[in-house]
Amino acid sequence: MDPLKRILVVDDNPEERALAALLLRRQLADAEVVEVTGAAAFAAALAQGRLAAVVTEAALPWSDGLGVLDAVKQVFPACAVVFLTSGGGEQLAGDAMRRGLDGYVVKGPRGWVVLAGAVEDAMGRAAGRWAPSSRGSGYRTVLDALPVGIFTTTAAGVVLDATPAVARALGASDRTALAGADLFELLDDEDRRRQVRERLASGQAVRDLDARVRRRDGDVAWLRINAWPVPAEGGGEGRYEGTLEDISGYKRVEKELSERAAALVQSNAELQQFAYVISHDLQEPLHLIERYTRMVSERYADELDDEGQRFMEHVLSSAERMQTMIDDVLEYARVDTRGREFEEVAFEDVVDEALKNLKAAVEDTEASVTRHGLPTLPADGAQMVQLFQNLIGNALKFHGEEPPAVQVSAVEGETEWVFAVMDNGIGIEAEQLERIFGMFQRLHSAEEVPGTGIGLAICKRIVERHGGQIWATSESGKGSTFYFTLPKAATAPAGEPGGGTGEA
Ligand code: ADP
Repeated sequence: MDPLKRILVVDDNPEERALAALLLRRQLADAEVVEVTGAAAFAAALAQGRLAAVVTEAALPWSDGLGVLDAVKQVFPACAVVFLTSGGGEQLAGDAMRRGLDGYVVKGPRGWVVLAGAVEDAMGRAAGRWAPSSRGSGYRTVLDALPVGIFTTTAAGVVLDATPAVARALGASDRTALAGADLFELLDDEDRRRQVRERLASGQAVRDLDARVRRRDGDVAWLRINAWPVPAEGGGEGRYEGTLEDISGYKRVEKELSERAAALVQSNAELQQFAYVISHDLQEPLHLIERYTRMVSERYADELDDEGQRFMEHVLSSAERMQTMIDDVLEYARVDTRGREFEEVAFEDVVDEALKNLKAAVEDTEASVTRHGLPTLPADGAQMVQLFQNLIGNALKFHGEEPPAVQVSAVEGETEWVFAVMDNGIGIEAEQLERIFGMFQRLHSAEEVPGTGIGLAICKRIVERHGGQIWATSESGKGSTFYFTLPKAATAPAGEPGGGTGEA
């Protein structure tokens, strides 16, 4: 198969560049269309070769069209160069034609219609490789199908022409229903309306204006509007051409995200307060219970019979257990309040550190722990040690008949790494696999296996603070695997660290 022919679209205006690229991709299916912004990217794209055509805005912030034309023709004489201009610049185009320019298209509804055909013709002319094919009839269809609407208005905003996408975005029955309508009258916000009118009246362009509109069918939508002045041909009143994109979907997601973020900040603040209350108000009476129970059993040892002593021991061990639970809840709350900034963390070192802390358990159970393919990633190092310590610790604690064999590994995905901690332990029943990540959720009593049931809840909170997810799979009696993901480009959530209140 022929390697794809490449077409560069060079334009620093993102909307116009994207539109041109979109049209070329749709129409010239056997070409690879590459969008280029800036001089460095242009040079890099040129260096990659295989160029069939370069479509360039004639007035770039970093070069005029002639500079681009000369650069291309010098390296690839057979590559077609087409100017895409915002109007005017006939003088420049004349010069360019004499220096080998293959095509010239003025941005605007008409220009967008003919763009792909002009590029195709230019390529045929420049290289004699691609025979010009029939064109013309298909472009209006493509334009009509585009999600981005294209319009022409008078300087006062009265619609002269519009593609069906404009009608769809504005809730009009079809594009003819918009003829003669005042396009900007639909803007919901009076300030925005005035702003647009002032720009149009003074002949300025409107760039990336996000505006709420009251659609003709009564709904409210968000549109991104671009409009630029087009001088009239042969005198007369100038016009405006522009694009209009329905961004209601983005706006909805944006709103949901900010609401969710606000709710999260709120719930974190509540948790901090909760942890503060626990650390002060709950620990104090608990210390008193412990102290007085010890005093009673020591000072009144002679007066208490065996049963009395046993009762005192029960009180003490319950108080100790409660202290452990309070400590665990505090640790859970501190995942967020005491979290540190993320830095590059080598996971080989993380596992080393976790195993050092688990030395006694590893020796007692005669466990073997292997690791494979662990990366270096941005994360909170101390929390990563805690995460692995909890997971490997569980693998040792819930072992089966055989000594524990734990495999720690990681696999690289597109945007994240997937870690796995696999054991050959007692396993977990399928219906319990979600529950175990909740606070105080255990499948065994404290007498059977020590623990408070908060270790996995802490793991979940740590992973979620890093923007990842955690889950487990298991085959009862054969072993479990705990998986978690970490994004490659994780950053500590805003407002951290050091957001803690007092003891929390
Ligand atoms: P804890 O270890 O203190 O009980 P965790 O939150 O770490 O608390 O674990 C919750 C429960 O999940 C454990 O009590 C245990 O029943 C189950 N569990 C966790 N890890 C494993 C594992 N590797 N194998 C079998 N069961 C496990």
